[in-house]
Amino acid sequence: MPKANQTILELNLNALEHNYNHLRSRLEPTTKFLGVVKAFAYGSDAVKISLKLQSIGVDYFAVAYASEGVVLRDAGIKLPILVLHPQAANFDVLLKHRLEPSLYSTKILNEFLKLVQNEGLKDYPVHIKFNTGLNRLGFGENEVDTVLEVLENSREIKMVSIFSHLAASEDLNEKVFTLQQIDTFKRIATAMENKLGRVVFKHILNTSGIINYPKAQFDMVRSGIGLYGFGNDTEIDKQLKPVATLKTAISQIHRILPEESVGYNRAYISSNERFTATLPLGHADGIGRQYGNGKAFVSVNGKKAPIIGNVCMDMIMIDITGLNCEEGDEVVIFGEDPTADEMATGAKTISYELLTGISQRVKRVCIDH
Ligand SMILES: *Cc1c(COP(=O)(O)O)cnc(C)c1O
Repeated sequence: MPKANQTILELNLNALEHNYNHLRSRLEPTTKFLGVVKAFAYGSDAVKISLKLQSIGVDYFAVAYASEGVVLRDAGIKLPILVLHPQAANFDVLLKHRLEPSLYSTKILNEFLKLVQNEGLKDYPVHIKFNTGLNRLGFGENEVDTVLEVLENSREIKMVSIFSHLAASEDLNEKVFTLQQIDTFKRIATAMENKLGRVVFKHILNTSGIINYPKAQFDMVRSGIGLYGFGNDTEIDKQLKPVATLKTAISQIHRILPEESVGYNRAYISSNERFTATLPLGHADGIGRQYGNGKAFVSVNGKKAPIIGNVCMDMIMIDITGLNCEEGDEVVIFGEDPTADEMATGAKTISYELLTGISQRVKRVCIDH
Protein backbone atom coordinates (compact mmCIF):
# COMPACT_ATOMS: atom_id res chain seq x y z
CA MET A 1 0.00 0.00 0.00
CA PRO A 2 1.42 3.45 -0.87
CA LYS A 3 2.68 5.57 1.99
CA ALA A 4 0.50 8.54 2.77
CA ASN A 5 2.46 11.76 3.06
CA GLN A 6 -0.64 13.71 3.97
CA THR A 7 -3.86 12.98 5.81
CA ILE A 8 -6.18 10.90 3.65
CA LEU A 9 -9.36 8.95 4.11
CA GLU A 10 -8.84 5.79 2.15
CA LEU A 11 -12.07 4.15 0.98
CA ASN A 12 -11.93 0.47 0.19
CA LEU A 13 -14.72 -0.28 -2.27
CA ASN A 14 -13.91 -4.00 -2.12
CA ALA A 15 -14.75 -3.88 1.58
CA LEU A 16 -18.01 -2.13 0.67
CA GLU A 17 -18.86 -4.93 -1.73
CA HIS A 18 -17.98 -7.53 0.90
CA ASN A 19 -20.26 -5.84 3.46
CA TYR A 20 -23.10 -5.56 0.98
CA ASN A 21 -22.78 -9.25 0.11
CA HIS A 22 -22.66 -10.20 3.77
CA LEU A 23 -25.78 -8.20 4.66
CA ARG A 24 -27.59 -9.54 1.58
CA SER A 25 -26.74 -13.10 2.61
CA ARG A 26 -28.73 -12.54 5.81
CA LEU A 27 -31.86 -11.65 3.85
CA GLU A 28 -34.45 -13.41 1.76
CA PRO A 29 -33.43 -13.23 -1.90
CA THR A 30 -36.57 -11.26 -2.75
CA THR A 31 -36.03 -8.57 -0.13
CA LYS A 32 -34.96 -5.28 -1.67
CA PHE A 33 -31.93 -3.42 -0.34
CA LEU A 34 -31.78 0.32 0.20
CA GLY A 35 -28.31 1.78 0.72
CA VAL A 36 -28.30 4.74 3.08
CA VAL A 37 -25.78 7.25 1.72
CA LYS A 38 -26.72 10.36 3.70
CA ALA A 39 -24.07 12.67 5.16
CA PHE A 40 -21.47 11.98 2.40
CA ALA A 41 -22.16 8.25 2.74
CA TYR A 42 -21.36 8.31 6.45
CA GLY A 43 -18.45 10.67 5.98
CA SER A 44 -16.85 8.81 3.08
CA ASP A 45 -17.74 9.85 -0.49
CA ALA A 46 -21.39 9.69 -1.48
CA VAL A 47 -20.76 9.62 -5.23
CA LYS A 48 -18.06 6.91 -5.26
CA ILE A 49 -19.95 4.78 -2.76
CA SER A 50 -23.28 5.13 -4.56
CA LEU A 51 -21.84 4.37 -7.99
CA LYS A 52 -20.25 1.24 -6.57
CA LEU A 53 -23.45 0.20 -4.79
CA GLN A 54 -25.47 0.83 -7.93
CA SER A 55 -23.06 -1.37 -9.91
CA ILE A 56 -23.25 -4.27 -7.44
CA GLY A 57 -27.02 -4.36 -7.25
CA VAL A 58 -28.61 -2.24 -4.54
CA ASP A 59 -32.22 -1.37 -5.34
CA TYR A 60 -32.72 1.99 -3.71
CA PHE A 61 -30.86 4.86 -2.08
CA ALA A 62 -31.72 7.15 0.80
CA VAL A 63 -30.29 10.53 1.72
CA ALA A 64 -31.32 12.89 4.48
CA TYR A 65 -31.75 16.09 2.48
CA ALA A 66 -32.68 16.94 -1.10
CA SER A 67 -29.30 18.57 -1.86
CA GLU A 68 -27.61 15.23 -1.15
CA GLY A 69 -29.86 13.57 -3.72
CA VAL A 70 -29.03 16.21 -6.34
CA VAL A 71 -25.32 15.37 -6.03
CA LEU A 72 -26.13 11.72 -6.75
CA ARG A 73 -28.32 12.53 -9.74
CA ASP A 74 -25.60 14.81 -11.15
CA ALA A 75 -23.15 11.90 -10.83
CA GLY A 76 -25.37 9.60 -12.85
CA ILE A 77 -27.26 7.70 -10.20
CA LYS A 78 -30.42 6.42 -11.86
CA LEU A 79 -31.92 4.36 -9.03
CA PRO A 80 -34.78 5.78 -6.98
CA ILE A 81 -33.62 8.04 -4.14
CA LEU A 82 -35.65 8.44 -0.97
CA VAL A 83 -35.22 11.78 0.80
CA LEU A 84 -35.75 11.10 4.50
CA HIS A 85 -36.12 14.71 5.56
CA PRO A 86 -37.52 16.74 2.70
CA GLN A 87 -38.28 20.35 3.47
CA ALA A 88 -40.80 22.54 1.72
CA ALA A 89 -38.03 24.98 0.77
CA ASN A 90 -36.38 22.23 -1.29
CA PHE A 91 -39.46 20.75 -2.98
CA ASP A 92 -38.69 22.34 -6.36
CA VAL A 93 -35.18 20.83 -6.35
CA LEU A 94 -36.66 17.53 -5.31
CA LEU A 95 -39.14 17.46 -8.19
CA LYS A 96 -36.57 18.60 -10.72
CA HIS A 97 -34.33 15.61 -9.89
CA ARG A 98 -37.13 13.14 -9.34
CA LEU A 99 -36.20 12.54 -5.72
CA GLU A 100 -38.82 10.74 -3.63
CA PRO A 101 -39.88 12.45 -0.40
CA SER A 102 -40.68 10.81 2.89
CA LEU A 103 -43.96 12.47 3.93
CA TYR A 104 -44.40 12.31 7.66
CA SER A 105 -47.08 14.79 8.69
CA THR A 106 -50.32 16.25 7.37
CA LYS A 107 -48.60 19.59 6.97
CA ILE A 108 -45.78 18.29 4.76
CA LEU A 109 -48.11 15.96 2.86
CA ASN A 110 -50.44 18.83 1.97
CA GLU A 111 -47.60 21.19 1.12
CA PHE A 112 -46.09 18.62 -1.22
CA LEU A 113 -49.42 17.77 -2.77
CA LYS A 114 -50.12 21.43 -3.50
CA LEU A 115 -46.84 21.83 -5.35
CA VAL A 116 -47.30 18.66 -7.39
CA GLN A 117 -50.82 19.82 -8.31
CA ASN A 118 -49.47 23.21 -9.41
CA GLU A 119 -46.92 21.46 -11.59
CA GLY A 120 -49.62 19.30 -13.14
CA LEU A 121 -47.77 16.07 -12.36
CA LYS A 122 -49.33 12.63 -11.99
CA ASP A 123 -48.38 9.62 -9.84
CA TYR A 124 -45.32 11.29 -8.31
CA PRO A 125 -43.65 8.66 -6.06
CA VAL A 126 -43.81 9.36 -2.31
CA HIS A 127 -43.17 7.34 0.84
CA ILE A 128 -45.32 7.58 3.95
CA LYS A 129 -43.42 7.53 7.23
CA PHE A 130 -45.06 6.31 10.44
CA ASN A 131 -43.89 6.97 13.96
CA THR A 132 -43.96 3.74 15.95
CA GLY A 133 -41.98 4.90 18.99
CA LEU A 134 -38.88 6.83 17.99
CA ASN A 135 -40.89 10.03 18.25
CA ARG A 136 -38.79 11.80 15.67
CA LEU A 137 -40.70 12.02 12.36
CA GLY A 138 -43.84 10.22 11.29
CA PHE A 139 -47.61 10.02 11.20
CA GLY A 140 -49.23 8.43 14.22
CA GLU A 141 -51.13 5.16 14.02
CA ASN A 142 -54.33 7.16 14.61
CA GLU A 143 -53.71 9.12 11.40
CA VAL A 144 -53.99 6.19 8.98
CA ASP A 145 -57.50 7.18 7.86
CA THR A 146 -56.55 10.82 7.34
CA VAL A 147 -53.55 9.84 5.24
CA LEU A 148 -55.57 7.41 3.14
CA GLU A 149 -58.24 9.98 2.53
CA VAL A 150 -55.71 12.45 1.15
CA LEU A 151 -54.01 9.77 -0.95
CA GLU A 152 -57.23 8.40 -2.40
CA ASN A 153 -58.26 11.86 -3.54
CA SER A 154 -54.97 12.74 -5.18
CA ARG A 155 -53.91 11.24 -8.48
CA GLU A 156 -50.92 13.57 -8.44
CA ILE A 157 -48.98 11.46 -5.96
CA LYS A 158 -48.50 7.73 -5.64
CA MET A 159 -47.62 6.02 -2.37
CA VAL A 160 -44.68 3.76 -3.22
CA SER A 161 -44.07 2.52 0.30
CA ILE A 162 -44.85 2.91 3.96
CA PHE A 163 -42.06 2.75 6.48
CA SER A 164 -40.99 3.31 10.05
CA HIS A 165 -37.71 3.45 11.95
CA LEU A 166 -36.60 1.48 15.01
CA ALA A 167 -35.36 3.32 18.09
CA ALA A 168 -33.11 0.66 19.62
CA SER A 169 -32.57 -2.21 17.18
CA GLU A 170 -28.96 -2.64 18.36
CA ASP A 171 -29.91 -2.89 22.05
CA LEU A 172 -31.22 -6.34 22.98
CA ASN A 173 -32.26 -5.02 26.41
CA GLU A 174 -34.93 -3.14 24.47
CA LYS A 175 -36.21 -6.19 22.63
CA VAL A 176 -39.73 -5.88 24.05
CA PHE A 177 -39.94 -2.27 22.92
CA THR A 178 -38.59 -3.08 19.46
CA LEU A 179 -41.04 -5.95 18.97
CA GLN A 180 -43.81 -3.55 19.97
CA GLN A 181 -42.64 -1.10 17.31
CA ILE A 182 -42.70 -3.89 14.72
CA ASP A 183 -46.22 -4.93 15.86
CA THR A 184 -47.47 -1.37 15.63
CA PHE A 185 -46.05 -1.11 12.12
CA LYS A 186 -47.77 -4.37 11.14
CA ARG A 187 -51.09 -3.07 12.49
CA ILE A 188 -50.72 0.14 10.51
CA ALA A 189 -49.86 -1.81 7.37
CA THR A 190 -52.81 -4.16 7.78
CA ALA A 191 -55.21 -1.28 8.35
CA MET A 192 -53.95 0.40 5.19
CA GLU A 193 -54.05 -2.75 3.12
CA ASN A 194 -57.59 -3.53 4.25
CA LYS A 195 -58.80 -0.07 3.32
CA LEU A 196 -56.92 0.02 0.01
CA GLY A 197 -57.72 -3.57 -0.94
CA ARG A 198 -54.12 -4.20 -2.00
CA VAL A 199 -50.77 -4.94 -0.41
CA VAL A 200 -48.42 -2.05 0.24
CA PHE A 201 -44.61 -2.06 0.05
CA LYS A 202 -43.17 -1.94 3.60
CA HIS A 203 -39.81 -1.42 5.33
CA ILE A 204 -38.63 -0.85 8.89
CA LEU A 205 -35.16 -2.40 9.42
CA ASN A 206 -31.84 -0.56 9.63
CA THR A 207 -28.51 -2.43 9.90
CA SER A 208 -28.97 -3.68 13.47
CA GLY A 209 -32.55 -4.55 12.59
CA ILE A 210 -31.29 -6.81 9.78
CA ILE A 211 -29.05 -8.55 12.29
CA ASN A 212 -31.40 -8.78 15.26
CA TYR A 213 -34.91 -8.83 13.75
CA PRO A 214 -34.62 -10.45 10.31
CA LYS A 215 -38.24 -11.66 10.49
CA ALA A 216 -39.31 -8.03 10.14
CA GLN A 217 -37.54 -7.49 6.82
CA PHE A 218 -40.86 -7.05 4.96
CA ASP A 219 -40.18 -5.89 1.37
CA MET A 220 -36.98 -3.90 1.84
CA VAL A 221 -34.28 -3.05 4.40
CA ARG A 222 -32.39 0.22 4.82
CA SER A 223 -28.75 -0.21 5.72
CA GLY A 224 -26.15 2.44 6.38
CA ILE A 225 -23.53 1.65 9.00
CA GLY A 226 -23.33 -2.05 8.03
CA LEU A 227 -22.28 -1.14 4.50
CA TYR A 228 -19.45 0.92 5.96
CA GLY A 229 -18.29 -2.01 8.08
CA PHE A 230 -19.95 -1.79 11.48
CA GLY A 231 -22.79 -3.76 13.02
CA ASN A 232 -23.02 -2.30 16.53
CA ASP A 233 -21.91 -5.73 17.76
CA THR A 234 -18.37 -7.13 18.06
CA GLU A 235 -19.32 -10.51 16.60
CA ILE A 236 -20.95 -8.94 13.55
CA ASP A 237 -18.03 -6.52 13.17
CA LYS A 238 -15.75 -9.54 12.65
CA GLN A 239 -17.75 -10.45 9.56
CA LEU A 240 -17.69 -6.95 8.12
CA LYS A 241 -14.75 -4.88 6.86
CA PRO A 242 -14.25 -1.19 7.59
CA VAL A 243 -14.52 0.79 4.36
CA ALA A 244 -12.77 3.93 5.62
CA THR A 245 -9.19 4.14 6.87
CA LEU A 246 -8.00 7.50 8.14
CA LYS A 247 -4.25 7.73 7.77
CA THR A 248 -1.61 10.38 8.01
CA ALA A 249 2.16 10.78 8.43
CA ILE A 250 4.42 12.04 11.21
CA SER A 251 5.34 15.70 10.72
CA GLN A 252 7.88 16.03 13.53
CA ILE A 253 9.27 14.04 16.47
CA HIS A 254 10.17 15.70 19.80
CA ARG A 255 12.14 14.52 22.78
CA ILE A 256 10.31 15.72 25.88
CA LEU A 257 12.25 16.09 29.13
CA PRO A 258 10.74 15.38 32.57
CA GLU A 259 8.38 18.17 33.74
CA GLU A 260 7.98 19.54 30.19
CA SER A 261 4.47 19.93 28.82
CA VAL A 262 2.93 19.15 25.45
CA GLY A 263 0.28 21.19 23.66
CA TYR A 264 -2.22 23.88 24.57
CA ASN A 265 -2.90 24.65 28.20
CA ARG A 266 -0.05 22.32 29.10
CA ALA A 267 -2.62 19.54 29.44
CA TYR A 268 0.09 16.87 29.24
CA ILE A 269 3.05 17.05 31.62
CA SER A 270 5.73 14.40 31.28
CA SER A 271 6.99 12.60 34.35
CA ASN A 272 10.03 11.21 32.57
CA GLU A 273 11.76 11.46 29.23
CA ARG A 274 9.23 10.84 26.41
CA PHE A 275 9.15 11.00 22.64
CA THR A 276 6.17 12.55 20.88
CA ALA A 277 5.11 12.77 17.27
CA THR A 278 3.07 15.61 15.81
CA LEU A 279 0.45 14.60 13.22
CA PRO A 280 -1.23 16.86 10.64
CA LEU A 281 -4.88 16.52 11.61
CA GLY A 282 -7.01 17.94 14.40
CA HIS A 283 -10.49 18.88 15.45
CA ALA A 284 -11.04 20.74 12.18
CA ASP A 285 -10.63 17.38 10.45
CA GLY A 286 -13.12 15.66 12.72
CA ILE A 287 -10.90 14.38 15.51
CA GLY A 288 -12.70 16.18 18.33
CA ARG A 289 -11.22 17.24 21.63
CA GLN A 290 -12.87 14.27 23.34
CA TYR A 291 -10.20 12.06 21.73
CA GLY A 292 -7.35 13.91 23.42
CA ASN A 293 -5.66 13.32 26.75
CA GLY A 294 -5.25 9.57 26.38
CA LYS A 295 -8.82 8.75 25.35
CA ALA A 296 -7.83 7.44 21.91
CA PHE A 297 -4.97 5.44 20.44
CA VAL A 298 -3.64 5.51 16.91
CA SER A 299 -1.44 2.92 15.21
CA VAL A 300 2.22 3.62 14.37
CA ASN A 301 3.84 0.79 12.39
CA GLY A 302 1.33 -1.56 14.00
CA LYS A 303 1.90 -0.31 17.57
CA LYS A 304 -0.54 1.59 19.78
CA ALA A 305 0.24 5.23 20.52
CA PRO A 306 -2.07 7.42 22.65
CA ILE A 307 -3.12 10.93 21.67
CA ILE A 308 -1.71 13.10 24.46
CA GLY A 309 -2.66 16.59 25.57
CA ASN A 310 -5.40 18.61 23.96
CA VAL A 311 -6.37 18.06 20.34
CA CYS A 312 -5.49 21.21 18.35
CA MET A 313 -7.42 22.53 15.34
CA ASP A 314 -4.97 21.16 12.77
CA MET A 315 -2.69 18.84 14.73
CA ILE A 316 -2.51 16.19 17.40
CA MET A 317 0.45 14.93 19.39
CA ILE A 318 0.92 11.25 20.17
CA ASP A 319 3.27 9.46 22.56
CA ILE A 320 5.68 7.26 20.58
CA THR A 321 8.12 6.49 23.39
CA GLY A 322 9.77 3.15 22.68
CA LEU A 323 8.25 2.81 19.22
CA ASN A 324 10.35 2.29 16.15
CA CYS A 325 9.36 5.18 13.85
CA GLU A 326 10.64 8.31 12.16
CA GLU A 327 9.37 11.53 10.67
CA GLY A 328 7.34 10.78 7.53
CA ASP A 329 6.16 7.37 8.75
CA GLU A 330 2.55 6.45 8.18
CA VAL A 331 0.11 6.53 11.09
CA VAL A 332 -3.33 4.92 11.02
CA ILE A 333 -5.87 6.92 13.03
CA PHE A 334 -8.64 4.39 12.45
CA GLY A 335 -9.26 1.59 9.99
CA GLU A 336 -8.76 -2.10 10.71
CA ASP A 337 -6.80 -1.42 13.89
CA PRO A 338 -7.95 0.52 15.75
CA THR A 339 -11.42 0.49 14.22
CA ALA A 340 -13.56 3.62 14.15
CA ASP A 341 -15.86 1.85 16.59
CA GLU A 342 -13.03 1.18 19.06
CA MET A 343 -11.80 4.74 18.80
CA ALA A 344 -15.30 6.16 19.22
CA THR A 345 -16.07 3.91 22.18
CA GLY A 346 -12.91 5.10 23.96
CA ALA A 347 -14.27 8.63 23.82
CA LYS A 348 -17.82 7.57 24.78
CA THR A 349 -19.39 8.10 21.40
CA ILE A 350 -20.37 5.90 18.43
CA SER A 351 -18.74 5.02 15.11
CA TYR A 352 -21.48 6.95 13.26
CA GLU A 353 -20.36 10.22 14.84
CA LEU A 354 -16.64 9.70 14.27
CA LEU A 355 -17.13 8.63 10.63
CA THR A 356 -19.57 11.35 9.63
CA GLY A 357 -17.46 14.00 11.33
CA ILE A 358 -14.36 13.60 9.13
CA SER A 359 -14.34 16.98 7.46
CA GLN A 360 -14.26 17.70 3.77
CA ARG A 361 -10.70 19.03 4.16
CA VAL A 362 -9.46 15.43 4.29
CA LYS A 363 -8.77 14.05 0.82
CA ARG A 364 -10.74 10.90 -0.08
CA VAL A 365 -8.87 8.21 -2.00
CA CYS A 366 -10.66 5.12 -3.34
CA ILE A 367 -9.26 1.61 -3.67
CA ASP A 368 -11.21 -0.71 -5.98
CA HIS A 369 -9.72 -4.13 -6.84
C1 LIG B 1 -29.85 6.66 9.00
C2 LIG B 1 -31.08 5.83 8.81
C3 LIG B 1 -30.99 4.47 8.49
C4 LIG B 1 -29.69 3.69 8.50
O1 LIG B 1 -29.36 3.25 9.81
P1 LIG B 1 -28.07 2.36 10.08
O2 LIG B 1 -28.13 2.09 11.54
O3 LIG B 1 -26.89 3.19 9.71
O4 LIG B 1 -28.18 1.14 9.24
C5 LIG B 1 -32.17 3.80 8.17
N1 LIG B 1 -33.37 4.43 8.22
C6 LIG B 1 -33.49 5.74 8.56
C7 LIG B 1 -34.83 6.35 8.62
C8 LIG B 1 -32.35 6.48 8.88
O5 LIG B 1 -32.47 7.75 9.26
